[in-house]
Amino acid sequence: MSTQTAVPLPASHKKPLIRRLLPDRSQKTRRIVQLVFLALNAWIGLQFYLWVRYYEHGGQTLYVPRPAGVEGWLPIAGLMNTKYLFLTGHVPVIHPAAMFLFLAFLLMSLLLKKAFCAWLCPIGTFSEALWKLGRRFYGRNLHLPHWVDIPLRGLKYLLLGFFAFFIGTMSAEALQSFMFTPYGLITDVKMLNFFRDISLTGLAVLGLLVLLSTLIQNFWCRYLCPYGALMGLVSLLSPVKIRRDETACIDCGKCAKVCPASLPVDQLVQIRSAECSACMVCVAACPAEHALQLGLPPSRTPDPARRWTRRVLTPGTVTSAIAYIFFAFVLYAHITSHWQTNMPRDVYMHLVPIANSLTH
Ligand code: SF4
Ligand code: SF4
Repeated sequence: MSTQTAVPLPASHKKPLIRRLLPDRSQKTRRIVQLVFLALNAWIGLQFYLWVRYYEHGGQTLYVPRPAGVEGWLPIAGLMNTKYLFLTGHVPVIHPAAMFLFLAFLLMSLLLKKAFCAWLCPIGTFSEALWKLGRRFYGRNLHLPHWVDIPLRGLKYLLLGFFAFFIGTMSAEALQSFMFTPYGLITDVKMLNFFRDISLTGLAVLGLLVLLSTLIQNFWCRYLCPYGALMGLVSLLSPVKIRRDETACIDCGKCAKVCPASLPVDQLVQIRSAECSACMVCVAACPAEHALQLGLPPSRTPDPARRWTRRVLTPGTVTSAIAYIFFAFVLYAHITSHWQTNMPRDVYMHLVPIANSLTH
């Protein structure tokens, strides 16, 4: 027997509200996934720092192996190595993990919208924490008018275009030579040093980004992140989408009000936008049973009384799919011995201490 009840609504609502049967678990699940991934990144960061310190101190400190997962922070190397793989059919020798992680995140976007941004990316997690902090502190977040918002959103595509053009013009030989330069070999160390020895200008830019992130929801992701731009473009091909059932929807507008990407969820039947990160915040806010769901296109059934079946993705399914894709790529790279960059220690002993003086 169903426990759903029709609740009387204000006169402005024409359809009765069939309340959701089960409480929403999407945001709790997403938060756990974000925190686990953040902890994994913190662990990798600590290991990498110890590894760098070992070479900076001439081998006098504790040696820890280099965590190849740090290459997840080298998306340009990931893009270059992916192009190298497609041109030559060979897995690159330098920073192969960057490529495997890049491909894993691309596949996630292809299957699960831009879930990488809302479920995994540590910068996305920080951005979300910052705008929530800002909302608590200022009482609200700023929403830029369309004529400012839309051109600003184009910035990330321009940045992506710049990198795509730069890498697109490189031959396989040029890609490989770049990776084998001293700069290419220790580009991860240079990235760490950028934050360790950050200049006043760098600090000012970072401070401004943090401030803007407290004012505007997902400022970095929305306007500036070329990685998110690429994931968003790939996600346009995803069969998984936020889908609204007009018959169950009571047009309350709660979904649109909470959407961090400011999408008009309450007015569309499905969300195709490259800005949708499958965060399910809209689903969590929706009060009506079956009105809003993340799912595949409905499938036809032979039953004439029920011609369409919803194919809904629960938060658990999203988590399992993310974990499966992530570990499948990492395990494959491990099993085929393509996970680590195998450089002799002498090379690092020479290059790591002089990393700041290396340019490309
Ligand atoms: S439409 Fe829903 S899932 Fe997509 S970004 Fe907005 S709130 Fe998140
Ligand atoms: S889909 Fe949006 S507008 Fe419709 S009932 Fe749910 S929250 Fe309200």
